[in-house]
Amino acid sequence: MRLLIIEDELPMRIALVKTLEAEGYRVISAVDGPSGMESALTEKVDLILLDVMLPGLDGYALCRELRHRGQEVPVLMLTARGQVQDRVEGLDCGADDYLVKPFSMKELLARVRALLRRQSRVQAVPDTLLLGGLHLDFRKQEATREEELVEFTTREWDMLKLLVAAKEEPISREQFLDEVWEYNAWPTTRTVDNFVAKLRVKIEENPNAPEFVLTVRGIGYKLKVR
Ligand code: CA
Repeated sequence: MRLLIIEDELPMRIALVKTLEAEGYRVISAVDGPSGMESALTEKVDLILLDVMLPGLDGYALCRELRHRGQEVPVLMLTARGQVQDRVEGLDCGADDYLVKPFSMKELLARVRALLRRQSRVQAVPDTLLLGGLHLDFRKQEATREEELVEFTTREWDMLKLLVAAKEEPISREQFLDEVWEYNAWPTTRTVDNFVAKLRVKIEENPNAPEFVLTVRGIGYKLKVR
């Protein structure tokens, strides 16, 4: 995995490089907005750590420009400020996550791992999938059955993507909580069961005798794709 750090403060940059390299990541870095932009566009990286206050071009503008050019690489914003409006602007510009300085390196590594995991899942999900009579379009997040729209919530789409990316391997309830709920809430494993029940109502012909979202006793659930 190759990471790009765009950060002008030397001590912070050194700390980030050291921490990430110690975890086995390959790291390249840039010291201002324009050179960061250049690296982001020309180097093949799996994730960008992006400081907000940068000389030349700030992190928000840089991120917005990347997205504008169709770059979908995950971006983790780093900022010294922590006001609500900064958070909104950070996610508005197309960043995937947001970390307020000072943060612990342990927290940073957890966020990096989560984003990389999410990204590899995104890459393992096909554009479309047919489950019985249900046509799923993962790119548009649109589901139809006999040309009628079937509504799935964002969380239900995330669960489906996780199941599809697993290629018929079972996903444990804990793994669902880790990867779909992340640090947004503290649900219990029972929550997963409730969501699976809702998924089945939308996917299965008979939710009480599921053909696609199957229970794997003692583990969790898997998606049978025919
Ligand atoms: Ca800075």
